[in-house]
Amino acid sequence: MGQKTIYIVGLGLIGSSLALGIRRDHPDYRILGYNRGEKSRRIALEQGFVDEATDDFAAFADRADIIILAVPIEQTIAFLEELATLPLKEKVLVTDAGSTKEAICQAAEKYLGPAGINFIGGHPMAGSHKTGAISADINLFENAYYIFTKTSRTQKDAIARLTDLFSGLHARFIEMDAQEHDRVTSQVSHFPHILASSLMNQAGEYALDHPFTNNFAAGGFRDMTRIVESEPGMWTSILMTNPEPVLERIAEFQSRLSHISNLLASRDTDAIWDFFDKGRRTRKEMEIHKRAGVDSFFDIFITIPDQEDVILQILELLRGISVVNIRINEENREDIDGILQITFKNKEDLDRAASVIRTKTSYPITIS
Ligand code: NAD
Repeated sequence: MGQKTIYIVGLGLIGSSLALGIRRDHPDYRILGYNRGEKSRRIALEQGFVDEATDDFAAFADRADIIILAVPIEQTIAFLEELATLPLKEKVLVTDAGSTKEAICQAAEKYLGPAGINFIGGHPMAGSHKTGAISADINLFENAYYIFTKTSRTQKDAIARLTDLFSGLHARFIEMDAQEHDRVTSQVSHFPHILASSLMNQAGEYALDHPFTNNFAAGGFRDMTRIVESEPGMWTSILMTNPEPVLERIAEFQSRLSHISNLLASRDTDAIWDFFDKGRRTRKEMEIHKRAGVDSFFDIFITIPDQEDVILQILELLRGISVVNIRINEENREDIDGILQITFKNKEDLDRAASVIRTKTSYPITIS
């Protein structure tokens, strides 16, 4: 492919990480960046993931072959409206990175459709609570789904052009209807955020009368509430642009809570056991269990003491064996054993690792 000019609008976590991924496979492309605040513009220029930066959105629009809007959802919609009034290249392709898709696709139809501008919605399904160019991460989207949502005006070449542009992200590209995207993400992303924040708010208020709440919260509580650290503005926008599916998930969950509440009130031990068992079995079937998209998983669980250098010692023993993932399942007490979970690509690597750990250490191991 010849040289192209890419305009990334919003040099936050997502925009900057996309820029790094584009640079990896297309070092000859010119990357232009817009950012409202000076700090992320400066970082992006200093670190070289954009060639030029501006705080004037309209300034670079006419130079771009591809425009990627990576700003909050409301601002994405405002920029779509503004784009329709700007001089653009004839074959420009516009996409976005917003976490909800229907409102954005409708806005694109409304504003860009009449002008015949090629648009396709995009949602790179990875992120974190971090913000700004300082958090740019070239590996952010590795193995993550990258969803494209067409509008009635999307031209045939849109997905091919973007999968080529984003090849360096090493993401998994799929196409989906915008409405279905918003429904599925309401269940697995938007509603869980509400739950996590509710749990945190409940615990915070409970701690006023029961101060040890803050001390006893351990790994399970931390895992369930990690996402609460996300930026409130982003999550408010997500709910505001996907209200109906989320309201439906809330109502459905309320009846689930009532059900378990009734089981407990009637001391129905068997039904409660089934309830937990069903959750455990369902989780095993989900891709989440397959470690960030790695299709097969071979895990070793090593019980290790909380002592300096133990993890380094184990990694040293595993030198030469390809490790896919490492996780430390900590306990909340400093002096208690923890579990080191190491994932390998295949059974052969797992067996080699197990054999080394057994012969060279006395740490108990379990294999899955
Ligand atoms: P971020 O806060 O890191 O960056 C947002 C960028 O938008 C910043 O550069 C900021 O300067 C700019 N911005 C904010 N308000 C603006 C305004 N009113 N006018 C002009 N510029 C403005 O956020 P992010 O995580 O990079 O999110 C960007 C988009 O990506 C959002 O639409 C979000 O829904 C989506 N997204 C986020 C995640 C995630 O987990 N963070 C994941 C997937 C998609």
